[in-house]
Amino acid sequence: MEGLKNIMEEDVERQLDILLPTMPNICSCDICRSDMAAYALNRLKPNYVRSNKGALFHKVNNSSTQAKTDLMTAVITAINTIGARPSHN
Ligand SMILES: [Zn+2]
Repeated sequence: MEGLKNIMEEDVERQLDILLPTMPNICSCDICRSDMAAYALNRLKPNYVRSNKGALFHKVNNSSTQAKTDLMTAVITAINTIGARPSHN
């Protein structure tokens, strides 16, 4: 929907940016990154915010420690799962 944005997408992408460089044995091509993001996002509670003319209202301190732990766990699981079985050759 126009004007709505799931800010978890950004959070997952940020985690991938942080974690993938520390895992040189894992493929980090665009296909795998997208697969990992989808895998993690399907396991996380979405967090939709209203966006206004492209500007996002991302409450920086909005996420609890538990939410951060859930995010980290989902992204690491996604990296390990997709990394072990990439959908490409
Ligand atoms: Zn790949």
